[in-house]
Amino acid sequence: MGEANVKNEQLNEEGFRVHHLSEHEFNLDSISPNAIKVVHQLKAQGYEAYLVGGCVRDLLLDREPKDFDVATSALPEEVRQVFRNSRLIGRRFRLAHVRFGREIIEVATFRGSGAANGTGSDNGNNKGQETTQEIHEDGRILRDNVYGSMGEDATRRDFTINALYLDPEDETVLDRVNGMVDHQNRLIRLIGDPEERYREDPVRLLRAVRFAAKLDFAIAPETLQPISTFGSLLSGVPQARLYEEILKLFLSGHALQTFEDLCRHDLLKHLFPQTAHMLNQTESDSLRQLITLALRSTDSRVAENKPVTPYFLFAALLWGGLENAVQNRLDSENEYVVMQHAMGEILREQAQTVALPKRSSIPMREVWTLQPRFRQRRGSRPHRLLDHPRFRAAYDFLLLRAETGSENSELAEWWTQFQAVGSNQRKKMTQPRQQRRSTRSKKPSQKPASVVSKSGDA
Ligand code: ATP
Ligand code: MG
Repeated sequence: MGEANVKNEQLNEEGFRVHHLSEHEFNLDSISPNAIKVVHQLKAQGYEAYLVGGCVRDLLLDREPKDFDVATSALPEEVRQVFRNSRLIGRRFRLAHVRFGREIIEVATFRGSGAANGTGSDNGNNKGQETTQEIHEDGRILRDNVYGSMGEDATRRDFTINALYLDPEDETVLDRVNGMVDHQNRLIRLIGDPEERYREDPVRLLRAVRFAAKLDFAIAPETLQPISTFGSLLSGVPQARLYEEILKLFLSGHALQTFEDLCRHDLLKHLFPQTAHMLNQTESDSLRQLITLALRSTDSRVAENKPVTPYFLFAALLWGGLENAVQNRLDSENEYVVMQHAMGEILREQAQTVALPKRSSIPMREVWTLQPRFRQRRGSRPHRLLDHPRFRAAYDFLLLRAETGSENSELAEWWTQFQAVGSNQRKKMTQPRQQRRSTRSKKPSQKPASVVSKSGDA
């Protein structure tokens, strides 16, 4: 959008500033017709309904929203009745999903401001429904199904720029928390008392950093100030939720910036303690470079709409411990055994903070275990390695390692060439250097060559 004209506003009866959108500020055509339909039908049934959250924020920045959220005065069960194509989900936050083919519009009932005694607000919106809010003794909100007015809903949201309500039919934005001004000034600002809001939900620490990186906004001083000291609150958040947030942090196209900000605000150690620890050591340049390259390549893939996999990033983030273990092993120790042991240790240690689910940890281990196998360039093994389902990811990882000096760049080039040439050339490339005594009858040795470039060619 262009500059929002904040003066072009009046107050409504609920204390919201009503901002009339002008054409140059807002391209209504970018709004999903299904989202407009949902708002329209709810309003037709006499409910209040608005687009809210990330989609409004993104539309105001002239970015394509990735999905559309609707906030309404209708209760979840009422939303369910208005839309046959809907179902109710969620325990922590009860929501309706309205489905149009592959698109899902998320419809949430206005939240109450959450009286801590669990009775919720008494504005008549609960209509005898179960209204529960569970608060942990550390201040965390465990369950939040207290419904309320739109005004309360605005103050329950996290950041001011996420609490703007767009009426696509009136072409107005309703704002009770000064979100338009913060939006113009490109500021991430928590609504209410920052410390209290972080305690209620420590994931907001990560969200602040994520939105700042994604939108290229600054974090308002009072919102920024508690971040580095409140990081330890993250240990109280269920691991599955943290894992989901990690995916958002690293797979939304701004992974490198987000990672640097997590380091700067001392939050990385609450998500990847081993990585944070290793990066704080003096000789961490090559690990930092490896992580940087992996994050940068993930960002470029997102920008090109190519698929991205979290396990590749985890392989880079947690690589340092494995490389150390292999490098420091005794000569008498089998490298393969050392690697298996170290991988187990790394994953166990990681599980103390955020366990990686098997769907990530298994392919990550494969990417790692294939690394020493790249050093075996003679005979049939290189041909077989090409067919391994994890070959491509492991080869990409090898390239990153070669670029950072963790592996011989000549080896990486060999593999690039090996893939590019035809089968005759491939056979030549893998012929034994000199005719050796027949090895065919011998079982291939179990021990792969070294994962670090200290040994020669296999
Ligand atoms: P994006 O989808 O781009 O990550 P978003 O702002 O839409 O960003 P969602 O997680 O989809 O983020 O949440 C939708 C809206 O719900 C937010 O804009 C915010 O208003 C509210 N919200 C989400 N998470 C929280 C939270 N932890 N605390 C308070 N409000 C939240
Ligand atoms: Mg969203």
